Amino acid sequence: MARLIKLGDTKWKQLFIDRSTEYHLWSIHKDVKQYCGVEDGQNRRIRITFDPNLNVGDIEQEFHITSGKEISFPRHIQLIFQEIVPDNRTSYYIAEIIDVDNSTPTADDIGEPDLPERAMCQTYRILRDTALARRAKTLHRNRCQLCETEIPLPDGTSYSEAHHIRPLGNGHNGPDTLSNILVVCPNHHAMLDYGSIRLIFDEIRTTPEHVINPSYIEYHNEVICAIGSR
Ligand SMILES: [Zn+2]
Repeated sequence: MARLIKLGDTKWKQLFIDRSTEYHLWSIHKDVKQYCGVEDGQNRRIRITFDPNLNVGDIEQEFHITSGKEISFPRHIQLIFQEIVPDNRTSYYIAEIIDVDNSTPTADDIGEPDLPERAMCQTYRILRDTALARRAKTLHRNRCQLCETEIPLPDGTSYSEAHHIRPLGNGHNGPDTLSNILVVCPNHHAMLDYGSIRLIFDEIRTTPEHVINPSYIEYHNEVICAIGSR
């Protein structure tokens, strides 16, 4: 069983070192569980902060509490874990329950809370930051493929975002392949998500290792520019 370190009433830390086969489920520290009134069957909003060395960003979304007071992962988060855990046993993550409610309401008598649009966006970005998205960012050294903007960070690295040209979800069913990914700056990412700009195939910077499939460009121009991706 993985070792849990309580960091506060709503927060706990877990090292990967103890986790080999069970990385797809997380336990909740018993003191945190008690303070936050966590019950089986709830959906609770949880923020997960990974060891900065892992460079995977934070996750904040609703997780389902399953039997045994564990958290069940959606598939896309399992994929993140499968990729980073085996090689990073000395790293850790910190989880924090951020919708603390000591009245312990159950799903039977309250409606699902409306998530603010911004939170939904964040879930989206994480969904998209697959291994391929990270590879694409590396190939382009975090330079926007549309305007060449590169955002430098204080630690000497740089920041970019990965956009799936034909979106993965919301009925668009685009594939998670390099030929469907564009590395972009945050401004261009928003413009593409909302369909506020058209893509012109010949104006996209590419590399020999990263070729864009023109049919996804067409999908963006025909569908996303008409209705947006959300
Ligand atoms: Zn840009």
